[in-house]
Amino acid sequence: MSEDGKENSVPVWKRLLGESIVKLNTLPSSPRAHREKLMEVISRYPMRINPYYLGLIKEENDPIYRQCVPDIRELDDKRAAPDPLNEEGHSPVRGLTHRYPDRVLLLVSSECAMYCRFCNRKRKVGQPGMVTDKSIEEGIDYIKAHREVHDVLLSGGDPLLLEDARLREILSALHAITHVDIIRIGTRVPCTLPQRITPELAGLLQEFHPLYMNVHFNHPVEITAEATLACSRLADAGIPLGCQTVLLKGVNDDLHVMQKLMRKLLTIRVKPYYLFHGDPARGTSHFRTSVSRGLNIIRGLQGHTSGLCFPHFAIDLLGGGGKVPLLPDYLTGRDGGSLLVTNYQGNAYRHPDGMDD
Ligand SMILES: *Cc1c(COP(=O)(O)O)cnc(C)c1O
Ligand code: SF4
Repeated sequence: MSEDGKENSVPVWKRLLGESIVKLNTLPSSPRAHREKLMEVISRYPMRINPYYLGLIKEENDPIYRQCVPDIRELDDKRAAPDPLNEEGHSPVRGLTHRYPDRVLLLVSSECAMYCRFCNRKRKVGQPGMVTDKSIEEGIDYIKAHREVHDVLLSGGDPLLLEDARLREILSALHAITHVDIIRIGTRVPCTLPQRITPELAGLLQEFHPLYMNVHFNHPVEITAEATLACSRLADAGIPLGCQTVLLKGVNDDLHVMQKLMRKLLTIRVKPYYLFHGDPARGTSHFRTSVSRGLNIIRGLQGHTSGLCFPHFAIDLLGGGGKVPLLPDYLTGRDGGSLLVTNYQGNAYRHPDGMDD
């Protein structure tokens, strides 16, 4: 087998995906208690744990386990909304969300390499019909007809689970639209199935610059040799890499874990972009932390680590108000012409304000 290997011409990533655990009885540490409830969880929200990601689990309930193994608490969350961000409400055609003036979100795949238990689209990921060839075509037509759209963000599901040829068709169609300035791909594959990032894929993506990619790592353990290789192939192809991390209770809601994650991301040439406060999506409440916990983590990053390590901490407003960045209050007051400012060490300073014109 070669490094990226083709075994009987089946690429390694496809073989791994095919060997994913999708049924309860094939889970190694199969949770015996609450079997029936867990079956219900899986029938509502699919499970897929490929052997690569499974291999990162060291013990039950560790940060990797919690992200991928179903939990009965996914059921007792009736009050939270299935679609908290009202993506459907801002959807002029199925699978496309046009919430901001100059950019759109286009769903191009319904599958992921692993179904994250905290996913805010868990109401529909992995369900057939979430995305169809027709919905993609209609989305592209919408973008063609709307000259104000300068930035198209491909998401899903995971766009990189598409076959290379299909991905090329979609990227070519978007690239040909003159008012589309940049294309972005949101993907978790470099983390959950890094073998997917073959030299062929990197070469293909390189044809569609300016192309940006946001990857998604939540814990330093996810930054393995395989993930490092995947990100270096993408970075070598000239793709600026950002990271969208989700703040998750019991996974990464800890300053030291987060510092380590942000620093490690820089070493694999990924710039932390967003740290999201968990959305109140149905089936995910056991992962939710308070906003102050997130703000405390942010306070512990700013000044203590390189500014490059510092993501925007954001909430995505319920009902579709969009992302809002939150910062601890560094500006604590004013005194005449001076600002009262607290620095990263918690010390108070007086700083002269300027004047307009
Ligand atoms: C997050 C998001 C975007 C992109 O937002 P940026 O802040 O530009 O990264 C675009 N559209 C929708 C609907 C989104 O949720
Ligand atoms: S990879 Fe993204 S879209 Fe897919 S399950 Fe995870 S969070 Fe949801």
